[in-house]
Amino acid sequence: MKPRPPLPPGPFLVVGLARSGVAAALALRARGEEVIGCDAGAPDVKRLREAGVEVHLDASGEHLAARARTLIKSPGVPQDAPAVVAARHRGVPVLGELELAWRLIPNEFIAVTGTNGKTTTTEWIGHIHDEACLPVAVAGNVGIAASTLVESLPRDATVVCEVSSFQLEDVDLFAPEAAVLLNLSPDHLDRHPSYEAYVAAKLRVYSRQGNDDVAVAPRDLEVEDLGGCARRVLFGSGPGADVSDRAGYLWWGEEPLLPVAEIRLRGAHNRENAMAAAAVCLARGVPLDAVRGGLRTFAGVAHRLETIAHRAGVDYVDDSKATNVASTLVALRAYTSGVHLIAGGRGKCQDFTPLAPVVPERCRAVYLIGEAAAEIELALAGTGVALERCGDLPCAVAAARAAAQAGDTVLLSPACASYDQYPNYEARGDHFRALVEAA
Ligand code: ADP
Repeated sequence: MKPRPPLPPGPFLVVGLARSGVAAALALRARGEEVIGCDAGAPDVKRLREAGVEVHLDASGEHLAARARTLIKSPGVPQDAPAVVAARHRGVPVLGELELAWRLIPNEFIAVTGTNGKTTTTEWIGHIHDEACLPVAVAGNVGIAASTLVESLPRDATVVCEVSSFQLEDVDLFAPEAAVLLNLSPDHLDRHPSYEAYVAAKLRVYSRQGNDDVAVAPRDLEVEDLGGCARRVLFGSGPGADVSDRAGYLWWGEEPLLPVAEIRLRGAHNRENAMAAAAVCLARGVPLDAVRGGLRTFAGVAHRLETIAHRAGVDYVDDSKATNVASTLVALRAYTSGVHLIAGGRGKCQDFTPLAPVVPERCRAVYLIGEAAAEIELALAGTGVALERCGDLPCAVAAARAAAQAGDTVLLSPACASYDQYPNYEARGDHFRALVEAA
């Protein structure tokens, strides 16, 4: 196993005390380090105080930077947060929670990144390991922060870790044994300075990898050089792909893996996720039969094209996790016609016009909710598809239910974040389910 670089010295200032920050602070305290924590809001920090962390709430932490020799930044904290700026100004190293976790966990890491499909593919890789009876721990954005795994894993367990562009902005020497980049399309342009900066952040997953590592990428990724020195393993259709999708099968080289019809998850995008998961597992030596079994039996993750009900011949599908245009596009493409699309929420400075050619092919009507309703309406105005401003989800579900006929699909795939009306996309999806079930 690869030796890890040592941690820089304490005291540590942990900025941002949501899930990752709390996990990082507790992992450091468990090692006897001096830890100060701060958060601009007032989250529940009882566990931190009990563990001996000095906690400052409703505090930017700017004045605390002077007391720290290392700053640990949560992925939700922006680069221009006062404490981060103050630390950099003083020459205090700033590490992300992922970098910290990786330095503290000696196990092999598979890092999964990309604009869309991270959670699905991360869980799928975990599932294939389970199928192969290989010890595995799944961590990342959803579920548990990687730092919670410190000191809790058997040495032979593989850590499969979903990593976001925000986490990758804050890595330094992070060099996972395997890195998977699923796809790249504009997202989070509200928080990254430009698309180029977003792509550069994503590519950092490869940049420190060595010759013995594995770098999985789409065959047709429009990037000249992935960077790093890892062995390239490509997936996609067309020549040169190690795992490919052709003639109704997925293939590993010239070896057929399974008929695509046996994959339970719907849509071409999920075939891509399947290929990426298979590629990384096969390249790392997971037995072929276990990979086949894991591809076949994976049932997907909640709120991602999840069929939640079948009423009066109409399917109700929760794709609340579709928080950008690219993921709504793939959701629509997973259906041939008869879709009643519920979209809207908080826009993220994105362009909704890519929806315009696809919506008339697949949708009978679009029901608009939330802050971005007017913007989406404008983007779809010339499509000829009925657009209905509904304001909120109850109104949209009622309208869609009234209009849908047997064989149709009511699809919540908002192309937007949920924060204008919900605490998160899970709450939005749960509300959708409750509304559907209440009828
Ligand atoms: P992430 O963790 O990257 O947000 P998820 O697996 O949670 O990805 O899926 C997010 C959304 O993107 C869902 O709406 C899902 O249907 C869609 N999606 C999943 N995989 C892909 C893919 N490979 N390409 C485009 N969209 C995808």
